[in-house]
Amino acid sequence: MSARQAGRSSATAPYRAADAFDLERIRADFPILRQQVHGKPLVYLDNAASSQMPQPVIDRLVHYQSAQHANIHRGVHTLSALATAEYEAARCKLQKFLNAAEAREVIFTSGTTDAINLVMHGYGRKFIRAGDEIILTTLEHHANIVPWQMLAEETGAKIRVVPMMDTGELCLDSYEKLFNARTRIVGVTHVSNALGSINPVKLMIALAHAHGVPVLVDGAQAVPHMPVDVQDLDCDFYAFSGHKLCGPTGIGVLYGKAKWLESMQPFKGGGDMILSVSFERTVYNTIPQKFEAGTPPIAAAIGLGAAVDYLSTIGLAAIARHEHELLQHATERLRALPGVRLVGTARHKAAVLSFVLDGVHPHDVGTLLDQEGIAVRTGHHCAQPVMTRLNLAATVRASFAFYNSHAEVDALVAGVRAVQEVFA
Ligand code: PMP
Repeated sequence: MSARQAGRSSATAPYRAADAFDLERIRADFPILRQQVHGKPLVYLDNAASSQMPQPVIDRLVHYQSAQHANIHRGVHTLSALATAEYEAARCKLQKFLNAAEAREVIFTSGTTDAINLVMHGYGRKFIRAGDEIILTTLEHHANIVPWQMLAEETGAKIRVVPMMDTGELCLDSYEKLFNARTRIVGVTHVSNALGSINPVKLMIALAHAHGVPVLVDGAQAVPHMPVDVQDLDCDFYAFSGHKLCGPTGIGVLYGKAKWLESMQPFKGGGDMILSVSFERTVYNTIPQKFEAGTPPIAAAIGLGAAVDYLSTIGLAAIARHEHELLQHATERLRALPGVRLVGTARHKAAVLSFVLDGVHPHDVGTLLDQEGIAVRTGHHCAQPVMTRLNLAATVRASFAFYNSHAEVDALVAGVRAVQEVFA
């Protein structure tokens, strides 16, 4: 049985570490992969936009909602204590997943965008003034551009941009030259969502620290694909979303070094983020609660905890290996097709293959592939500066997850050839 067919078989028990990257077992954990789209087996290659959820995570959400739900931190009753314990246990799972030094360095947010906005408000509005400088890169997602532009507009700070080469790699020589006494923060994506380039963030962080500048890493496209150790990277902030990590929507994480989180101002005000309130004076809570105003997405946080348990059982190193093979296979096969141009050919890439076809608009490619049951993304991928730099309006993007198979890559290639025939 091919791996693609195996995705439609039913699961007996969820994946266990002893299964040693058994793709059929893994695929059987994802009920959505058994679906047909337009009468064809679903080939889901839009994982960079959002990944799918395995049965153990779905089961965890159902169990929480059916047996454990109450509001947290405030109640003295049993269910509230239970929900609080589960929510805080999820924080500890995320701490372990990232190898953060302390659980209080893990802030639950609603996603990457929310986490970056938290840093902009909490750090930026406190420490960045007129004439100060913010370094970003050409490869950033709009989520790591627009909040900083809003701050620059409000304060009179300046944004400096690290240029990119045609391959989709950053110009590190130029990066180093951008630092000066007014540089206050660097924002850099770990992996480009548009091109898949893996940026040398450890090196970039060390360089920034040599200038006394903290670094925010947008890890939305990295954490699902490779082991991430925030202490090893020595990043000051690391942001990502649960829904790209086999978890629910509406949840994400901001990791921040305690020394920064403690010195920052809160982003949102309200319940839970305070120790005491009077009309004369409010005393803020300690971290992490200082940054978690109001009722948080409790179920989603617990679901994300289950998702990182699931991924850790398979192992991020094994996931990275499998996805690398998929990417290599897809790259070789698509590159061999006349009329296909790969966009983004960095030496170090993760899980993303962007391309364009001669004479066919990317949206037409996406629509025709959908007719074959193949889900890809087309457009500017919320990274318009990347597209502008490459003189493109849009690309077709196939993005892989560990549950994708070589047979699905072959289905994509066959789909692309069929599109070319339609337009021949
Ligand atoms: N940064 C990157 C690199 C992304 O790929 C995305 C999602 N496409 C985001 C930020 C924003 O994530 P979210 O919409 O989950 O906040």
